[in-house]
Amino acid sequence: ETNEMKLEFDSRPCNESFARVSVAAFMTQLNPTLEEVADVKTALSEAVTNAIVHGYENKVQKIYIECRMEDQELLVKVTDYGVGIENVELAMQPLYTTKPDEERSGMGFAFMEAFMDELSVESEPGKGTTVCMRK
Ligand code: ATP
Ligand code: MG
Repeated sequence: ETNEMKLEFDSRPCNESFARVSVAAFMTQLNPTLEEVADVKTALSEAVTNAIVHGYENKVQKIYIECRMEDQELLVKVTDYGVGIENVELAMQPLYTTKPDEERSGMGFAFMEAFMDELSVESEPGKGTTVCMRK
């Protein structure tokens, strides 16, 4: 059986923990280990932070999260309708960042990849970005 939920919230840093906790609460139905919950929370934080600081460049707009559970698996999508990414492959390289001056280390996508079982990124410049993760 599948189970789905959607969230829509303002791209404010204070909503990062809201998103993290909401998805964690939703996934408890899968009886995850503490480690699995921690992994999803970490990956989600990175995706939401990216939407806030890169996608919307700290302007307040909407972030969308879609979650689906199917066959003991969690699928999470984080979408922004912000600036988008010119070269996704390059952006996903560890240590690659377009904001080195703002204490960014360029490790967000690397963490998402490490902590989740599957990561894919769809993005179009001027349109926005969707990060799709599976655990
Ligand atoms: P860190 O996550 O370590 O603080 P970072 O955010 O720069 O640094 P990544 O999360 O790996 O590193 O992202 C790499 C680059 O991809 C970013 O610097 C940015 O240019 C681009 N990027 C990531 N997410 C988005 C997004 N939602 N919209 C637009 N650009 C993005
Ligand atoms: Mg990041």
